[in-house]
Amino acid sequence: MEIIIAKNTGLCYGVKRALKTAQKTRRLRQGKVSTLGDLIHNPQVIADLEAKGVGSIEDVNDIEEGTVIIRSHGVSPEIHKALKRKKLEVIDATCPIVQKIQELVARLARENKEIVIVGNKEHPESQGLIGHSRGRGLIVENETQTAALAFKRKRAVLAQSTQDLHLFKKVVASLIEKTEELQVFNTICRSTQTRQRTTSELATQVEALFIVGGKNSSNTRKLYQISKRILPRTYFIENAGQITTEMLRGARTIGISGGASTPPEAIEAAVEKIQQIFEPHSREESRVQCQK
Ligand code: SF4
Repeated sequence: MEIIIAKNTGLCYGVKRALKTAQKTRRLRQGKVSTLGDLIHNPQVIADLEAKGVGSIEDVNDIEEGTVIIRSHGVSPEIHKALKRKKLEVIDATCPIVQKIQELVARLARENKEIVIVGNKEHPESQGLIGHSRGRGLIVENETQTAALAFKRKRAVLAQSTQDLHLFKKVVASLIEKTEELQVFNTICRSTQTRQRTTSELATQVEALFIVGGKNSSNTRKLYQISKRILPRTYFIENAGQITTEMLRGARTIGISGGASTPPEAIEAAVEKIQQIFEPHSREESRVQCQK
């Protein structure tokens, strides 16, 4: 049996940077240290941070003291102002790539353009981007919502950094039909695009594929959807304990991929679990390799 791990799997630059910032802040600051929202969409990592004294709060109104860390997704200018009003110490771990998208949105808003953001309405990054759009932005999640938009003379379209490229292209194609002058900014970050491409390639090479990551992680869910379109035996698991004998039945080549918030330990645990299930039933040795 062969296990192939997708290239570029595991934590992305922005999430790694935010995690390091949180750990460093905890070491250097006295008193309460909290992140505004979960730092990454991964329950195990969040539990680990909590054990080390970095809690997570959902709302600015829920905190009165200490240091607040803004996660890689960034926040709206209103949230920045609310934190300032409370005189809390703020450590901004917004991913620099997301920061650039926020600046782009603010510039387009100053130019009075309608800004279509291809993203998930509930996702914190999209909510932050909307906040930078001064009321000129709107989020579309699918082609149906795009089809319902009116004709405009000028419009700009961009994407949440972790958006599915396939969907973004479809939305752009649909907007061309209903905009006289359309500006297109492909703001899907390079790490997301590479991850989506390598996962779809892996889905064509293996017989079963495990996407490892938190169920609330939007980019991990998209990887699952992309792989599932190619390979019906794609499984979305949060941890290695969810891998069963039935999922592996008859498969000789097995793929593993993970989202931007999946730590390397979760991938290693999935490899070990697959080997544990496989080896008692076979005299053959399993081989683990990274995707070429
Ligand atoms: S997915 Fe890309 S833009 Fe988003 S946090 Fe990671 S590196 Fe930054």
